[in-house]
Amino acid sequence: MSITVKALQKTGPDQPFKVVAIERREPQGTDVLIDIKAAGVCHSDIHTIRNEWGPAKFPLAVGHEIAGVVEAVGPDVTKYKVGDRVGVGCLVGSCGECEQCNKGFENNCLNGAIGTYNAIDEDGTVTQGGYSQKVTVRERFVCRIPDSLDFDVAAPLLCAGITTYSPLATWEVGEGQKVAVAGLGGLGHMGVQIAAAKGAEVSVISRSRKKEEDALTLGAKELLATGEDENFFETHKGTFDFILNTISAEFDLPSFMDLLKPGGKMVLVGLPPEGMPIPTRALTGGRKVLAGSNIGGLPETQEMLDFCGEHNLGAKIEVIGVNDVDAAYERVVKGDVHFRFVIDTATFEDAEVTEAEAA
Ligand code: NAP
Ligand code: ZN
Repeated sequence: MSITVKALQKTGPDQPFKVVAIERREPQGTDVLIDIKAAGVCHSDIHTIRNEWGPAKFPLAVGHEIAGVVEAVGPDVTKYKVGDRVGVGCLVGSCGECEQCNKGFENNCLNGAIGTYNAIDEDGTVTQGGYSQKVTVRERFVCRIPDSLDFDVAAPLLCAGITTYSPLATWEVGEGQKVAVAGLGGLGHMGVQIAAAKGAEVSVISRSRKKEEDALTLGAKELLATGEDENFFETHKGTFDFILNTISAEFDLPSFMDLLKPGGKMVLVGLPPEGMPIPTRALTGGRKVLAGSNIGGLPETQEMLDFCGEHNLGAKIEVIGVNDVDAAYERVVKGDVHFRFVIDTATFEDAEVTEAEAA
């Protein structure tokens, strides 16, 4: 038994998005069927569907920033009921039994977590993401959205929010620390808001001054533009206790390490298509830490949503319809996003379904 819904799929990296009909399973066991209200556009969607991280499993619907309302629940669901406001992020499954899952780090599942899209689900099908009208997800991978946050500003929290919240929490960033957020896109703009709410003094490192006013509105003390000072890295050497690096392309890693104080830490969350060599000397000199972070587990995702609800932190968004997504991708790649595109899934209603071509 399945439920037919509309979704935006591509059949290849250079094909346009098309509205197609896909099947979602009827809720069984601990499944929750969610009527999607808003779906954020993450740069990871773009990396994936453009084959920048390797060949994607076409035809594919991406999207892992999902907010909506519970429409139906399976017989074993205990946490949610019809009408609840909920969200789903990057994960829809994990083994649930390994040491990491038991600690609530499903994102680090030792047996391989199941991604919300482009992954093989337990039934052998390819997971299809949130650019869709509805989705069926096991309740462990569903979070509650605080009433104070609208669906559209909450959706991006499910990836951009948790990906920035987790390293800031893990490394105990807060009052008395000078923090830089590098790259002011979807992730960066959440990082600035969360770090500022935690009491840190936040600087934004961006390529130009274009986003200066926004940076200050988000809670940063200043915006530093790499492109406006030939000696940028020399000028700001040894300044920061912590850098949250969200840059989506390759950058000068050793120079960024130089911006840290001795003992400072930089956490990479950006995933440029090509990896970067580790700058050994930039780490040993000054006893610096270079770390990475990958979204977060489900308990921490709920903690982040509650934190954002309490501090009234949502994403700053541009709402788009189902026909605008290809154009939005071009703007994200140019760095011209303020600060997250969010698809209003109500626009599926009038969209005509085209037959998906065979992959
Ligand atoms: P985004 O909205 O496109 O923001 C990325 C920002 O990086 C841009 O706004 C830009 O900031 C900066 N940037 C882009 N190209 C650059 C270049 N060539 N040189 C220097 N700076 C550049 O992307 P996002 O959605 O925030 O995602 C950021 C990265 O994190 C992506 O690689 C994404 O795949 C990854 N990601 C990782 C995780 C994880 O769990 N680790 C989760 C989600 C996303 P300025 O315009 O301010 O310079
Ligand atoms: Zn994402």
